[in-house]
Amino acid sequence: MATRSYAASQRRADKTRRKAKAPKPKAGFCTVEDCWEKVRAATEASFDFKLCRKHADFQSRHGSTMAKSYPVAVANPYRRAALEYVLANLEDIVVSHAIADVGSLFRRAAHVEATSLRGMKPAARAAVAFARLRKAEVDRRLVVAAGVAVAMMKADRLQSDPSDTYAHVQIAKIVHRLGSGTHKYWPTNAAYPELHKFPKSRGLVLVKIGEAVAGAVAQLVAERLPDILAFKAARRAAGKPDTSAKSKRIQGRKRTPKPEMPPRRQKPISRSPFNVSGRR
Ligand SMILES: [Zn+2]
Repeated sequence: MATRSYAASQRRADKTRRKAKAPKPKAGFCTVEDCWEKVRAATEASFDFKLCRKHADFQSRHGSTMAKSYPVAVANPYRRAALEYVLANLEDIVVSHAIADVGSLFRRAAHVEATSLRGMKPAARAAVAFARLRKAEVDRRLVVAAGVAVAMMKADRLQSDPSDTYAHVQIAKIVHRLGSGTHKYWPTNAAYPELHKFPKSRGLVLVKIGEAVAGAVAQLVAERLPDILAFKAARRAAGKPDTSAKSKRIQGRKRTPKPEMPPRRQKPISRSPFNVSGRR
């Protein structure tokens, strides 16, 4: 890609912003069935000629304009069965390749704190999301299980939106929850003792994360999906636990230890004449 000077990229951004704000006579109504809202291009500075604000938001959170994300109670039995299958078949070359591929995703980027993600492109954010999992020492097999579980749900016809984007976002939502945000503590700073920042689980970054995981488990899904579904059915018939997605044999994420904090100072009583709340 040709590099632009800073001034040139600013000029270009200004031009785009002006164009986005300009009235757009072609902007009509949202393309989702039974929605009669104006598209975003008509109501805000945007080039979105397809969706209204509400449906655009829904799409960026769930990967579909209509289908909600899988509830935990639906996804967990699949995630658990996939994880147990992986743990029981570590010798299988297809399984070990999938784990290794997720491992290489983990090593793609340097760690970036969740507070410094602003302005990064979705693909870079996705790489950093995997780096965050690496730093939290999340077990790679949990990520493999997430990718396989979504393929299983699709095979069981639980996927109400057939698009790949929906499947990818569903994988990413699970993977996103495996990691955590950035947590910082300043025990000596009474005014600002701690900071917790979680990257948002929405937008194109989810598609990129999901695509990467789907790619890593593609061969495993292509060759072993019927086996894994049979394995799940057998586990269920045997009454094995499946409400939790994690196994006791697997390490969850490592948490940032919270240092010893001094007791919080009480808020001083307001002496203001405007304190009409009655609280003293
Ligand atoms: Zn709409």
